[in-house]
Amino acid sequence: SVQHLVKEYNHGTVKALNDCNLDIAQGEVVAIIGPSGSGKSTLLRSLNLLEEPTGGQIFFDGVDLADKSVDINLHRQKMGMVFQHFNLFPHKTVLQNITMAPLALKKKTPEEAQKQAMELLERIGLADKAGEYPNMLSGGQKQRIAIVRALAMDPEVMLFDEPTSALDPEMVGEVLDLMRSLAKEGMTMAVVTHEMGFAREVADRVVFMAEGKILEEGSPAELFDSPKDPRLQDFLSKVL
Ligand code: ATP
Ligand code: MG
Repeated sequence: SVQHLVKEYNHGTVKALNDCNLDIAQGEVVAIIGPSGSGKSTLLRSLNLLEEPTGGQIFFDGVDLADKSVDINLHRQKMGMVFQHFNLFPHKTVLQNITMAPLALKKKTPEEAQKQAMELLERIGLADKAGEYPNMLSGGQKQRIAIVRALAMDPEVMLFDEPTSALDPEMVGEVLDLMRSLAKEGMTMAVVTHEMGFAREVADRVVFMAEGKILEEGSPAELFDSPKDPRLQDFLSKVL
């Protein structure tokens, strides 16, 4: 639950987020759309305090993340994050990339971590790549591995920031398919995306941002078929 969230940069001259309010329920898939510079990434990164809010509150499982007694690292582990540029560790194998955080942070045994990693790789059809290094893989393969690497931490929520924007067109589908299957399994997801088809089909709710504000939100049908805000109408006329 995001309440009156404000994020300013450069001593208040840039208002990246200007009184944002957003609730995401367990199991919900929320797509965040809007023009460049509207604050989508800032909002997403604020959810796990990669950005420190200037004002407002964020509650996760009812806990105020700004509360000094909250172990933010423990909370971050509950939120998997996938960015536009797959940031796999280049000098680690695929398997090591996936097992690293669970071994270090979740205190899994090497056997447990490996077993889970192999199951995740099998799920995406890449078990045969376990011993490879990331530079041997296609962009779509890397991004799918980045997603299952986040899943290996057993997150409660997955945050995606334009996970397909840097991919060659022919690889977009395989990444969206994986995200679609996660959504079907009931994963709670917040997805910043330019893939309007995906947003329409998979999201329970679509949120439109402009100039640091959430200007409109609703079901995909409401937002795409009868947009009310002129800025949303204008945005859709450019992207659809
Ligand atoms: P895009 O679609 O291009 O990714 P976005 O909606 O994700 O855009 P943000 O990256 O959240 O937009 O940026 C929102 C605003 O905050 C922009 O005006 C941006 O220039 C500004 N901004 C973001 N990060 C910083 C920073 N570290 N320092 C200063 N200004 C920033
Ligand atoms: Mg962004």
